[in-house]
Amino acid sequence: MKEKKKQRGRTGTVGFCQSCGQEHSLPAAQAQEAAFQLIKNLERSNRIDLSIPALQANPRCSLDYLWGPARGKMFGVLVGQAPNGEQVHLRAFSGQYNGLWQVPGWVGPVFDLNTFHQVHDQEEREIKKLTHEIAELPADAQERQELLQARKKKSQQLMREIHNLYQLCNFHGQRASLQEILGLKKGVPTGTGDCCAPKLLQHAALHGLTPLGLSEFYLGKENASGARQHGCFYPSCQTKCYPILGFMLCGVGHPEKTPGETR
Ligand SMILES: [Zn+2]
Ligand SMILES: [Zn+2]
Repeated sequence: MKEKKKQRGRTGTVGFCQSCGQEHSLPAAQAQEAAFQLIKNLERSNRIDLSIPALQANPRCSLDYLWGPARGKMFGVLVGQAPNGEQVHLRAFSGQYNGLWQVPGWVGPVFDLNTFHQVHDQEEREIKKLTHEIAELPADAQERQELLQARKKKSQQLMREIHNLYQLCNFHGQRASLQEILGLKKGVPTGTGDCCAPKLLQHAALHGLTPLGLSEFYLGKENASGARQHGCFYPSCQTKCYPILGFMLCGVGHPEKTPGETR
């Protein structure tokens, strides 16, 4: 409970682990310098596909996107240690960047993108078709009600299928779906697993990196509530991340995983 008081000012990545019955956290400190560097690089090049030569840059990766109607976005940096002792820097953006799940030089989503498209694309087309048909019908038409129901069912089904693709890993080598982590009674809030912290931790866990620090910051036009401001750093979020990050951080720094490398 004493953690509650500290939430306001704290940074870093934290979540509640059901199996240990306690919070696990990862401080931001060791990733802070790398995060400042990344902000500088992004602002200087005004695009996020930094590893691509300027002439081949994807216009969709421009930083201008962050100042448009979609508003800004969270970015994150994880500094980790490889089994050979080398330090590795990973970076991630939250959700999609201008419709892109994958951008060169950035950690991808926690799910397999090909499988995602197999599940998502066809269903999404059908849902859009229904939306189209619904819009053409008068508000009181019986058929409209039926189509609305059908669309709702389809959307929920698709959501469940997509959530099943989110198999999160931790540093004990365990895997669990969002539903398994959150418990069966709770619904899964939209966007759970799409923040920077879960993307970065997933990549680290799958590639045998021991996380040393994780720092998240916001770039672009402030969000609707004003709670996120350009160039500011934030702790991992309470609503989507706190309930899953305990699982994901479980085992970080446990000697049985990476003997001699942890601290
Ligand atoms: Zn989050
Ligand atoms: Zn734990």
